[in-house]
Amino acid sequence: MDFALTEDLQMLQTTAREFAEKELKPLARKMDRDEEFDINAFRKLGELGLCGITIPEAFGGAGFYDSRQGNQAASVTLEEINRVCASTGVTLSVHMSLFSSLLTKWGTEEQKRRVLPKMASGEWLGAYCLSEAGSGTDAGSLVCEARRDGSEYVLNGSKLWITSAPYADVFIVMARTSKEHKIRGISTFLVEAERKGVRIGKKEKKMGIRGSATCEVLFEDCRIPEANRIGDEGKGFGIALDTLDGGRIGIAAQAVGIGRACLEDATAYARQREQFGEPIINFQAVQWMLADMATRLDASRLLMYRAAWLRDHGQNCAKEAAMAKLFASETANKAAKDAVQIFGGNGYSKEYDVERYFRDARITEIYEGTSQVQRIVISRALSG
Ligand SMILES: Cc1cc2nc3c(=O)[nH]c(=O)nc-3n(C[C@H](O)[C@H](O)[C@H](O)COP(=O)(O)OP(=O)(O)OC[C@H]3O[C@@H](n4cnc5c(N)ncnc54)[C@H](O)[C@@H]3O)c2cc1C
Repeated sequence: MDFALTEDLQMLQTTAREFAEKELKPLARKMDRDEEFDINAFRKLGELGLCGITIPEAFGGAGFYDSRQGNQAASVTLEEINRVCASTGVTLSVHMSLFSSLLTKWGTEEQKRRVLPKMASGEWLGAYCLSEAGSGTDAGSLVCEARRDGSEYVLNGSKLWITSAPYADVFIVMARTSKEHKIRGISTFLVEAERKGVRIGKKEKKMGIRGSATCEVLFEDCRIPEANRIGDEGKGFGIALDTLDGGRIGIAAQAVGIGRACLEDATAYARQREQFGEPIINFQAVQWMLADMATRLDASRLLMYRAAWLRDHGQNCAKEAAMAKLFASETANKAAKDAVQIFGGNGYSKEYDVERYFRDARITEIYEGTSQVQRIVISRALSG
């Protein structure tokens, strides 16, 4: 494993950084304030090739997947986007690290040809439907039903907390095809948003990542052809868990991006804010907060790159992805808390971005497996 980014990855990093500064910076506060997602910003990501990073070139991807750098490239990109706008960041993370990665790994040739080019170009936005009102951490107890009827399935039930739901063109849905087996009774389906029987429900009013659209999705006698099933019947839970390993690397990247924003803003503020006749960065109490932030952020990024490298090379990375997400998300929360502290009263004001970082950081410890779940995954791997 090489810690230096390849020339390709450095170019990608520059592209993502410039896009975030130029296009997302002017939008991020407004999206948070108005609780409105900006679909045009997402389309522009597609035009730059940033939506196809985890997709093979044969299906419109940017080539990183083919050179075994897909997860690393996604990490580099997501760090830059989330540094400026975590709402756009989570949208892109779900699109790439959950939806496109799942279809790339488990989809049929026909499904990939039909869907992936539109995902790569950003013409279509994808969403991932696992959670339900009664099944969050215990995802295997989901009840949304896919009843077989000849060559079709009839979908009934509802999914909660679905990122991008009102803007999504296509959903990946985990549904129950057998009530006899808990985990082995779950299958995975592609469901187009325009299909009869798909309805978007209540929109969540959130503490953070308020510019991302999170909604309930309801399926009411929604008929889907057998050709839309991804993988074998009963294999859906394994597919969901495998995909979450990649998704957790994406959320680690989100946390690293938010943490870096905290470090950069807090350092700049501490250099110019004066008390007792000198910049507050001269005080050891402030210096040590910044030093801890920088150290933990570097460690988070290295854990993230290791997990990404393992996944890119086809190795099991469940433990390493859990470690990266756990450490990076706890680091982002500590960094956001300390950044608010360094800003003093201004840190508590909406005039500055650090209060948004503080709210945005919180979710990284909750979705795609809470911190408790990551510790369970790590300790299970340790105990064999
Ligand atoms: C903004 C947002 C966006 C989301 N986007 C999506 C999405 O796009 N698609 C999707 O499918 N889901 C999505 N989710 C759902 C998310 O993945 C779940 O909220 C998360 O998995 C936790 O589930 P829960 O909320 O039901 O909490 P619960 O499972 O009820 O957990 C509550 C608490 O109990 C703890 N707990 C539960 N079981 C255990 C255990 N065995 N041991 C120790 N502690 C335990 C948890 O760690 C947590 O602290 C999103 C959620 C949010 C808030």
